Amino acid sequence: MANERTLSIIKPDGVKRNLIGRIIGHFEENGLRVAGAQMRLMSRHEAEGFYAVHKERPFFGELIEFMTSGPVLLMVLEGENAVAKNRELMGATNPADAAEGTIRKMYAQSIGENTVHGSDSVENAAIEVNWFFKGNEVYNG
Ligand code: ADP
Ligand code: MG
Repeated sequence: MANERTLSIIKPDGVKRNLIGRIIGHFEENGLRVAGAQMRLMSRHEAEGFYAVHKERPFFGELIEFMTSGPVLLMVLEGENAVAKNRELMGATNPADAAEGTIRKMYAQSIGENTVHGSDSVENAAIEVNWFFKGNEVYNG
């Protein structure tokens, strides 16, 4: 197992519903550490670039509207196997399919407004962290 970094986002629905503390607590209790964080609005340019892989999908417009609709918490999480661990803690994209005890099962309202983002591979994690964070904005635990 390797020490890894991954990008986590608490999406606008999670910030609006005052879930930041509970979600970060869940990460910390499960072996992940916050190594960098910024709370702010995501620009349309940032959201479109970040989700470029989905630009032909029918939900792309809705996804960009949602992700720019309010502040998000962008985080770099660090820990053993952080990429897969974060995905496991998040649960399935659709909260209806998410396992008991996962963040999306506990908090997400729909497949679109699903409270958290997490990188899906080590390679994408590096790209996504670099999309939002400069090297000197991430710290070692
Ligand atoms: P994940 O976030 O689990 O990696 P995807 O990469 O497939 O899921 O999709 C990115 C995001 O796009 C999802 O988290 C969700 O917010 C949104 N999304 C995915 N599928 C749909 C859908 N069928 N309808 C609306 N929004 C969707
Ligand atoms: Mg994805």
